[in-house]
Amino acid sequence: MLFSKSFIYTLREDPKVAECLSHKYLLKGCFLHMVSSGIYSYLPLGLRVLDKINKIIQKHMNKSGAQQLLMSALQPMDIWKKTGRDKDLEEVMFKFKDRKDKELCLGPTHEELVTELARKYVRSYKQLPFILYQIQAKYRDEPRPRLGLMRSCEFIMKDAYSFDIDQQGLDENYAKMLTAYKAIFKECGVDFVVTEADSGVMGGDVSHEFMVGSEIGEDVLFCCQGCNKFFKQGKECPECKGSLTQQKMIEIGHIFKLGTKYSSVLDASVLDKEGKRKPIVMGCYGIGVSRLFPSIIEVNHDDKGIVWPKSVSPYDVSLVTLGGVAFDDAAQITHVLENSGIDVLFDDRDIAAGVKFNDAYLVGNPYILIMGKNYSKNNKIDIEVRKTEEKLSLSKEELANFFKKEYNI
Ligand SMILES: [Zn+2]
Repeated sequence: MLFSKSFIYTLREDPKVAECLSHKYLLKGCFLHMVSSGIYSYLPLGLRVLDKINKIIQKHMNKSGAQQLLMSALQPMDIWKKTGRDKDLEEVMFKFKDRKDKELCLGPTHEELVTELARKYVRSYKQLPFILYQIQAKYRDEPRPRLGLMRSCEFIMKDAYSFDIDQQGLDENYAKMLTAYKAIFKECGVDFVVTEADSGVMGGDVSHEFMVGSEIGEDVLFCCQGCNKFFKQGKECPECKGSLTQQKMIEIGHIFKLGTKYSSVLDASVLDKEGKRKPIVMGCYGIGVSRLFPSIIEVNHDDKGIVWPKSVSPYDVSLVTLGGVAFDDAAQITHVLENSGIDVLFDDRDIAAGVKFNDAYLVGNPYILIMGKNYSKNNKIDIEVRKTEEKLSLSKEELANFFKKEYNI
């Protein structure tokens, strides 16, 4: 991609509306556009990152045997009245009537809708178990939207639902999701903690939360200074007696054993082996995708900008030409790299070197290639590895091999 043709318009100044570091870098680097408070558009650069996060999620969900679907964001209110959650979520639901006076809402979550699917299509225990998931926008009329994507009115969730004949089946699917989630967050480049949590408005008995440590987090955990384990509360570590200190955390995932809370109310039941009717045993599993996105930045950045993990960066490398290095030479390097599967953002603009570097840091690709003096004199391309700040000089021939190794391709 040529920078001069891209929809990347970085800001020189820190945006005044930015409430935290990730919010600042997302606006400054032209990843996001703030439509109004709590409402955002993903610009081309942001969508490239979002797509990569989604692909990682899909890979691990599909590997676990889950099947992707896409449910409607518009939901009839009558189904919410059946579970009584129209009352629980009344304050945050976007509700309205259609032209026939039918009450609708923009879905804040999808337990009701997915349980309804099971009621309609599943008759026998032989159709169980299965897991369905989707990646979709959800809506909450937030009283106080804040911190950019962290708490917004329209947000993207990956929500999954498991369906089993009994508790043992649920336990197995729950364990599968726990494993998949750990793999997803690890691949996205965030250090996370898993804790047992309250089930709150979702109901059910067992639940686990996935959290990332950050000053802007709205949740609190207690971290042991001795063994680094996290706990929900307390002053002393129950395991090593070390002292506990408070740590703010961002919740990025939450999984629940729902049991039959929704299936019994909505009459989603199957005939078991003995021909007896039984409510389906369910679990639900959420990842706040649009919260994971800025959380990655909160834990992967420096003073200059975002340092994206290789797995989710918008491009693999930024290529910067300096001085009189010919466009054709840089275009050829870009071509060679792209042919080996490396995505290049080639800054071909005729502007000051400082501006090019500044933008390369704001975009945050993990490698910056520099074709300047060292290229004109010695035919060498300089590489800045953002994460380690390591600097290398390689010949054209060595370059493709270097990246093939770095990216295992
Ligand atoms: Zn301890």
